[in-house]
Amino acid sequence: MLNVILFGPPGSGKGTQSEKVIEKYGLVHISTGDLLREEVAAQTDLGKQAKVIMDKGELVSDTIVIGMIRNKLEEHQDSPGFIFDGFPRTVDQARELRKALSDYDERVGVMISLEVAREELVKRLLNRGKETGRSDDNLETINNRIDVYDRQTMPVTYYYDKMHKHAAVDGTGSVDKIFERIVEAISKVKS
Ligand code: ADP
Repeated sequence: MLNVILFGPPGSGKGTQSEKVIEKYGLVHISTGDLLREEVAAQTDLGKQAKVIMDKGELVSDTIVIGMIRNKLEEHQDSPGFIFDGFPRTVDQARELRKALSDYDERVGVMISLEVAREELVKRLLNRGKETGRSDDNLETINNRIDVYDRQTMPVTYYYDKMHKHAAVDGTGSVDKIFERIVEAISKVKS
């Protein structure tokens, strides 16, 4: 399997680039943000709890998120691999991912982090808010999400640095140019 983590702050283009990676490599997409939004839309108990947290821009509990990930891994055992988008967001989540994958004798191939300056992120997210009406794409929540990213999520890069699996990619320029950089990083994964 080829298992790729697409990492980066909110608004760095993980969703857009995931689609292109999936198209090229046939990977199964696991976006914890999308999974949580499905729960919110279906108004499940989990969704109701998650919505309050998401609207503040805070992180949903590791236990919930890891449960969702384990279900997806179980469901798609015959796939050529996974692309994780918006996960892991804490070092504990990264450790749990390692455990979950090793249950299937699998591992993360590469963690690609998209680098984009804060002011550009805010601009992109405000735009998305206008276009899609996503309830967490308002200025106050955006700022908190980026702070939460800096505090709780950024340290995940050190975890993969230590394992020599972290590839930093410039997340600015055209969508195709960024995708080329990602393909380059994936091509270095040892199978
Ligand atoms: P973005 O990366 O654009 O902020 P996502 O769609 O990945 O958006 O996530 C939206 C919200 O869902 C987050 O702000 C957070 O509240 C919650 N969430 C998503 N993934 C996780 C995760 N792995 N751990 C905890 N909370 C998460």
